[in-house]
Order: sequence, then C-alpha cells, then structure tokens
Amino acid sequence: MKTNQLKDRVAIVTGASRGIGRAIAIGLAGKGAAIVVNYATKSAAAEEVVNQILARGGQAVAVQADMKDLAQHERIVAAACKHFGRIDILVNNAAITHRHPFQEATAAAWDEIMGVNLKGVYFLTQAVARVMAPQHTGKIINISSVHDTRAMMNNSIYSISKSGLVMLTKSLALELAEKGIQVNCISPGAIVTDETRDRLSDPAYRDRVLAKIPSRRVGEPEEVVGAVVLLASPESDYITGTTLYVDGGMLL
Ligand code: NAP
Repeated sequence: MKTNQLKDRVAIVTGASRGIGRAIAIGLAGKGAAIVVNYATKSAAAEEVVNQILARGGQAVAVQADMKDLAQHERIVAAACKHFGRIDILVNNAAITHRHPFQEATAAAWDEIMGVNLKGVYFLTQAVARVMAPQHTGKIINISSVHDTRAMMNNSIYSISKSGLVMLTKSLALELAEKGIQVNCISPGAIVTDETRDRLSDPAYRDRVLAKIPSRRVGEPEEVVGAVVLLASPESDYITGTTLYVDGGMLL
C-alpha cells in the first residue's frame, strides 16, 4: 500500500504504549496519520512511542485516560481535536484480562474487564462518532481476539467481553453506516506482547499453543498492522460490520 495513504488523517489508538497498540500507532503514523497515543499508566512508554513517530517526521501526542472511566474519554477526544482538528480513525485496542477458573471469578473482575474491554469501547466510540458524523467519514476498528469465537480455559470474562465486541461491531456498523462511518473488528491469534511473553516462554505452554496454529508460529505485533491499515483506508469503504482474523489459521 502507498506510504502516505493516510496523510491528513487523524487516528486515536487506545492502549498504544505497548504491544499491539504500539505497533498500530507507529504503523498508522508510517502511512501519514497523526496519532493520539492513549495509555493508562505507563507514561514513559507512551512518550517513547510519540518520540519514535516524531523522529520519523510524523505527528503524535500522548494522552493518559483510563478506558473504564467514561469521564476520562473526553480528554482523548479533546486532545485529537485540539492538536489535529478532526478524528478519522479510532482503534479500540486497550484491553485487560485476569485469568481465573470460573468458580473463582469475582464481580469486581467482571466489572473491571467489561469496563475496559466493552463498556469503555462502546462509550468512547459514541464520543468519537459525534465528531465523525458531521464529517460524514470515519473508521472504527475494534481489536478483539480469536477468543471471541474460541472459548479459553480460565479466561471466561475476557472471552465473553471479546465475543461482545463482535456484536458491538455489527450493531454500531448498522447504525453508523448512513453517516459514512465504517465499524470493523480485527481478531488476532497468539501475538508476543507483555501480556503473553512470559507464558509463551514456557516451552510446554508454547508447544500447546503452536499445536493449535497451522502456521506453527506465534505472531509479532507488527503482523496485525496491515489489517488495520486496510480497514483505516479508503480501500475498505465498502467493508463494514465484519471481523477479520489475523491468527496464522488458528481458527481453522
Ligand atoms: P498489552 O501488551 O497488555 O498492552 C495493553 C495496553 O493497553 C497498554 O498500552 C496499556 O497501557 C493499555 N491499557 C490497559 N488498561 C487500560 C485502561 N484501563 N485504559 C487505557 N489503556 C489501558 O496488550 P496486547 O497484548 O498488546 O493486546 C492488545 C489488544 O490485542 C487487546 O485488545 C487484546 O485483547 C488483543 N489481543 C492480544 C493478543 C495477544 O496474543 N497479545 C491476542 C488476541 C487479542 P499502559 O501501558 O499504560 O498500562
């Protein structure tokens, strides 16, 4: 794809200080978009992402906001509008999990995971869509997981949240289509990030994961970026409400 195909576009990437979000922020900036780098707690990591983008001639600003605190969403929207004047792309990437068996799950864990992974996505998207609608253009990209489809042992709340994200994607795509806004979902398989690195370094665990992946390898964060660029660009204007799996064939 062209190097500058997202020139003059403005993108918000939630959870962009590390992992997949970081790769997406740098990848979209590499295609010319100005980036709002959202993070929760790790300001130095977020600033490092901003500095990488600036060093390559791009534009970026870091904004702290906790996705589960709806009052903080306005900071992200305001920063995008103040620094860059519009919002074209929202990548809802931030997510958390607490792994425990179903019998040990707590209501507090449910509220926290759903608060970040689903409620936060729903209401940040609402705030952003209010900016996009008058522009009559916009791309919402939700980062889900293969576990929106495939159940995962001891990770039920996370999997349920990601399954909900697929229906959130379809529902908002239906309502926002006539406003020129496309809403799509990308579901990665096993990707090496801070969230998964320790477990994947255990040979027995890694072998069990690789046995489920026809490509026989785990993915790197940068391997999710191509799908995001496609769904952020005009080439995908007739694609909405869909989920694209980036998983080395894991769901096969
Ligand atoms: P990660 O390495 O754990 O990074 C999480 C990011 O989310 C960080 O930037 C973190 O910010 C931010 N974050 C956490 N809680 C937040 C909150 N309450 N508000 C705002 N930001 C918050 O995660 P990852 O592995 O890259 O995963 C990224 C996305 O891909 C998630 O949606 C995840 O479900 C999905 N995914 C990952 C995999 C995988 O194998 N890694 C597979 C399938 C799907 P701080 O740095 O400030 O803490």
